[in-house]
Amino acid sequence: MKFLILGDGAREHSIAKKLCESPKTDEIFICPGNAGTFYEKKCHNIEFIDENTLLNFAEKNSIDLTIVGPEKFLCEGIVDEFEKNNLKIIGPNKKSSILEGSKIFSKNFMKKYKISTADYEEFNNFEDAFNFLNNINFPIVIKVDGLAAGKGVFICDNYKQSVKVLEDIMKNKCFGESGNKIIIERYLSGFEASFFVLLDEKNYKLFNYSKDHKKIGEGEKGLNTGGMGSITPHPNIDENLKIKVEDLIIKPTINGLKAENLMYKGILFFGILFENNIPYLLEYNVRFGDPETQSLLNLLDSDLVDIFNDIYNNNVENTHLKWKQGISMGLVLTAFGYPLEYKKNIEILKKSDDCDFIYYSSKISEEKAFSSGGRVLTLVDNCKNIDTLRNNLYSIAKLYNKEFYFRKDI
Ligand code: ATP
Repeated sequence: MKFLILGDGAREHSIAKKLCESPKTDEIFICPGNAGTFYEKKCHNIEFIDENTLLNFAEKNSIDLTIVGPEKFLCEGIVDEFEKNNLKIIGPNKKSSILEGSKIFSKNFMKKYKISTADYEEFNNFEDAFNFLNNINFPIVIKVDGLAAGKGVFICDNYKQSVKVLEDIMKNKCFGESGNKIIIERYLSGFEASFFVLLDEKNYKLFNYSKDHKKIGEGEKGLNTGGMGSITPHPNIDENLKIKVEDLIIKPTINGLKAENLMYKGILFFGILFENNIPYLLEYNVRFGDPETQSLLNLLDSDLVDIFNDIYNNNVENTHLKWKQGISMGLVLTAFGYPLEYKKNIEILKKSDDCDFIYYSSKISEEKAFSSGGRVLTLVDNCKNIDTLRNNLYSIAKLYNKEFYFRKDI
């Protein structure tokens, strides 16, 4: 089969790498791809082109299936365009992408279908939100409605901080139109988990669940990042919690999606926070997440081509999922200074063959790889024993002590 993958991150490199393992994959085109996909044997990076040229490319090159990484493409309606042109693609159309594209839509959807989530109020003007602050207990969570590249959520400990955040969003328009509306949500305290579901237009199948480490500092301290590491399966999720998630969150979500005609072919991510062992849904993503994909796909023992074909053919109910025994871990290496100011164009050297090297946004110049963003690599491996796994990944990460930063407690 011939695939087209859209995106330039580590998530897309992971997907490409897993597809390459399958004897059913002949060729993968990846737009724009990165240094990691450049090195994969069956992959060809193609320069970023506009949507129309992309459609022509898929048609001319007889692409059998297109996979979309970033949410921006999905929310802008790339799936609708491909489908209009009878091109096969996996992912939600514009209508279904609103589950991720609007926090207010998704919270109202959760409320309507009795999906466990934190209490909240929505606001479309500064005065009402400001007045609401007089009658509540802190901390609270303020969230902008639209897409904000993971930066639109603020945990506010007190009144003064909350007013400042409201002013920045609603008066100073720091997030542009994404902040025209906001929600104020009850603060939950507990641990988080990422649940992934395979979805088609009729059914769903639970894929797996991971632990993500979002903060830059050890012990979940400091600024939020795109993710500093992941572990699959999530070590704190037992059978009992898994059943609670299915009953209180996944099943009512599927009922709601069916009732609203929002089912789609693709991946549905549930960002969940457990408070006192009760799962609360924070958000939906309508795609694979990063850095969870790196550890998820590393642990997968089934053929990803079969899984994507089952999704496309509305057959997820019968998808056979096999996982390697043990646990998989992804450790993210970043440029020093990330997520604030950081150096780009750092040469990326592969210093070991003892784990997978999954690349973030990066370029090849004179046959060498150079970083283009803050996150640079995910080192990924799996093992039956978590201590052995950690020792292996950290011994490789230490070779990069001078070039890159990484958390020591994944
Ligand atoms: P992502 O970067 O994962 O796409 P997002 O910006 O779209 O996130 P959320 O997942 O809703 O937004 O929130 C980001 C993070 O903020 C969560 O992972 C969690 O750590 C924290 N958070 C969100 N809502 C709450 C809440 N009600 N109580 C406590 N923490 C919260």
